[in-house]
Amino acid sequence: MLWASEVSSFLHCSHVFLSLKFYWTFFFAIDIIAENHFLYFMKSIRDFTIATLGSHTALQILKGAKDEGFKTLCICHKDRKKPYESYGVADEILEIENYEDFFKIEDELIAKNAIIIPHGSFVSYIGFERMKELRVMHYGTKGILEWESDRVKERVWLKKSGLTLPRIYKNPEEIDRAVIVKFHGAKGGKGYFIANNSQEFHENIKKYPGENDYVLQEYVVGVPVYTHYFYSRLNDELEVMSFDKRYESNADSIGRIAARDQLDVNILTSYTITGNIPIVMRESLLPEIFTMGENVVKTSREFVSGGLFGPFCLEAIIDPNLNFYVFEISARIVAGTNPYINGSPYTWLRYHEPMSTGRRIARDIREAIEKDALSKVLG
Ligand code: ADP
Repeated sequence: MLWASEVSSFLHCSHVFLSLKFYWTFFFAIDIIAENHFLYFMKSIRDFTIATLGSHTALQILKGAKDEGFKTLCICHKDRKKPYESYGVADEILEIENYEDFFKIEDELIAKNAIIIPHGSFVSYIGFERMKELRVMHYGTKGILEWESDRVKERVWLKKSGLTLPRIYKNPEEIDRAVIVKFHGAKGGKGYFIANNSQEFHENIKKYPGENDYVLQEYVVGVPVYTHYFYSRLNDELEVMSFDKRYESNADSIGRIAARDQLDVNILTSYTITGNIPIVMRESLLPEIFTMGENVVKTSREFVSGGLFGPFCLEAIIDPNLNFYVFEISARIVAGTNPYINGSPYTWLRYHEPMSTGRRIARDIREAIEKDALSKVLG
């Protein structure tokens, strides 16, 4: 009997031992998997480099990417390195002699697993046609840049989205109210002028010999408001990030001298952008602002596979009856988001931490990597 009870106690002990061993092995395995998984995520993010061209919104793009845990790289024209060195936002600076040289360093960027964040200067220096040839990973839908760069296509897109646009005059003889004459490819509004009738137009256009590529747009009397949106395909949600207005020379300085003096010195109004000023909107306008953005995103899918995602901006004049006249869309990050490197009043409501548009882009990429859905943020 003694023998039987010893065997039974041995079996019991070994059962407990085996069970313990099993549980230990099981938890150890789980631990290893969890740790590897964690390492996998961490490694994945550190494996990528967020890169952009040193200009426009590069400071906030690179700072935001760093805050989200990415390595950062700034591609700099040799004469424009100073701010990117001084503010320490770039882990690495790649110098180029001129912007066409971007394609010479593309293989180097690919080897670094770089993801390029396009901005206004990037699109303008590289050109949307050449952007289609990019082989390096690119955040956002490339095809949509063609729709924002072409004034005719842009109007089709905005109209289809149900937005109100300023009227366009096909020829100067039709001018029956104030129009703003915009030269195509004008850098930051330089040289735009106002004409109240065809006679004024013909007089003023003489000051721009050889300029034939312009548009005559109804001049809407009201206040300019630029709305900065962000749409993520990961959560299918549109966010209103912030608003700005521009600080333009000399349009914003003419009011500082008396009307008599303005006439005396024969000033030609110009809208050369020099900076951006933050705005907080009348809150009752927000529902309409959200709807406008959502419609633009929805409609974009009819034109370009994958549609618009990431940051974009609607540029509008709001008249005294609170009508929005949208005169332009930018389908990428705009410089008007620069006052909000530490977040805007609106991003604070949602994130409770500093969230610039640049950082929101990096967060979109980070979440895509973590969800193993990187293709959702590339285009
Ligand atoms: P850019 O090509 O630099 O984006 P914009 O088209 O934004 O230039 O125009 C420059 C300036 O002219 C801005 O201050 C804008 O508010 C003003 N503006 C543009 N279109 C109109 C318009 N239709 N009516 C009134 N102001 C306008």
